[in-house]
Amino acid sequence: MRGAIAAALELRFEGSTLPAGVKAVGAVRSGAGRDGYNARVHPAVALAGGGLSGLSSALLLARAGFDVTVYERKPVAGGRFAGGWQILENGSSPADVLEELAAAGFPRGVPVHPLHRAVLLDGFGRRFEVASQRPFAYFVRRGAGEHTLDSWLLGLLEQAGGRVVRGVEPPTDVQVVATGPRQADGVAREVVFTSRLADTALVLFDPAVTPTGYAYLFSLGGHGTFGVAQVRRTASLRAAQKLAWRRFRDVLGEFPLEVVHEGGQYMNFSIPTALQDGAGRWWVGEAAGVQDYLFGLGNRLAMRSAALAVGGLLGQWDGAAFENGLQRPMATSVGLRCLFEALGRRGLAALCRAAAGGDFRDFLLRLQRPRLATTLLATVARWVWRERRGCRHGALCQWCRRREG
Ligand SMILES: Cc1cc2nc3c(=O)[nH]c(=O)nc-3n(C[C@H](O)[C@H](O)[C@H](O)COP(=O)(O)OP(=O)(O)OC[C@H]3O[C@@H](n4cnc5c(N)ncnc54)[C@H](O)[C@@H]3O)c2cc1C
Repeated sequence: MRGAIAAALELRFEGSTLPAGVKAVGAVRSGAGRDGYNARVHPAVALAGGGLSGLSSALLLARAGFDVTVYERKPVAGGRFAGGWQILENGSSPADVLEELAAAGFPRGVPVHPLHRAVLLDGFGRRFEVASQRPFAYFVRRGAGEHTLDSWLLGLLEQAGGRVVRGVEPPTDVQVVATGPRQADGVAREVVFTSRLADTALVLFDPAVTPTGYAYLFSLGGHGTFGVAQVRRTASLRAAQKLAWRRFRDVLGEFPLEVVHEGGQYMNFSIPTALQDGAGRWWVGEAAGVQDYLFGLGNRLAMRSAALAVGGLLGQWDGAAFENGLQRPMATSVGLRCLFEALGRRGLAALCRAAAGGDFRDFLLRLQRPRLATTLLATVARWVWRERRGCRHGALCQWCRRREG
């Protein structure tokens, strides 16, 4: 990837050297004669969607010398979220996520807070403290406000010369599509709040509350996020929210809070066959169906898909990294979701207990290691959970096609 970026910086003003799908705008900026011969050019790339995957792709492209324009439909970039905590997971592959991002060309200094401890709650009212030597995740704020991952990316993008055009529909000839979820495969409801609550991370695994998901309460530095997620179903979450809140209050006691934002969201999952469609456009993040199916975590994969697509735009597509870094972990997460739902209340409680029995990051790495058993489970799940309403995931979806096939 680094090599690819370096190569792009050396692009010469000869049409044939530009990667496919990238338009030369002839913006000759250095060492150029009037005819542009031997000059460095900055090819233009347009992207649709100014969320995590769009800003990530745009930043990598801008740092590679591209003339980048992001078209964001909302009045602000990164506006899907309201400043609440999310996690950048660090337990699905041995490499630390921050090292992975640096190796992919992201600047260091991602605004994160390492997470070494959490409390898991089971469906029988028991608590299990989990801990890890290396962070099993990083807290990160999401949204358009201050100190968020989105604002950090946006600031760097603008420093690198990229721009975001807000409040407009993108032109039809964008090269990168990063427009987020396309259909509701799962749903989540969140409350973002401020309080004097001590720093904590609680996660509830109780199928009586969220049969296909979990509930969470994160608090750090007086900022909190409480949410319920049904990764695989679109039923109403209000009842689940009430039950989960009661469970968290049992643990934390009563505490005053001020609600900053409350709302529902949907999320989609599919397993893309590729990141580039037949028309040559690159799809990234949830627009490409990229998301983990076990916990509904999409941040790391959104940034990974951005790095892969940018590699493709630079003419250095890494098929092995796509297969091993996106398709395989996503298939594993489908198998694990199937397992989690089959386990039921007792099984999940046993899993919480096992998670607390050693280093939690090591536990997560073992759990998410691709295995024949999870691949088989994923195959079964694809058949049993097949979409009957028709697929809106788009041309890259392998999931529904397989389900329909
Ligand atoms: C409640 C909730 C909590 C989550 N928590 C976590 C977590 O803790 N950890 C984790 O890893 N993942 C989490 N996720 C998932 C993660 O947030 C997403 O996978 C990730 O944000 C996907 O980024 P994206 O760029 O694909 O999409 P988005 O962030 O949705 O960005 C898409 C952007 O495109 C814009 N857009 C849409 N249509 C158009 C259009 N036609 N033209 C122009 N712009 C358009 C949108 O306005 C938006 O700004 C959570 C998701 C939800 C819903």
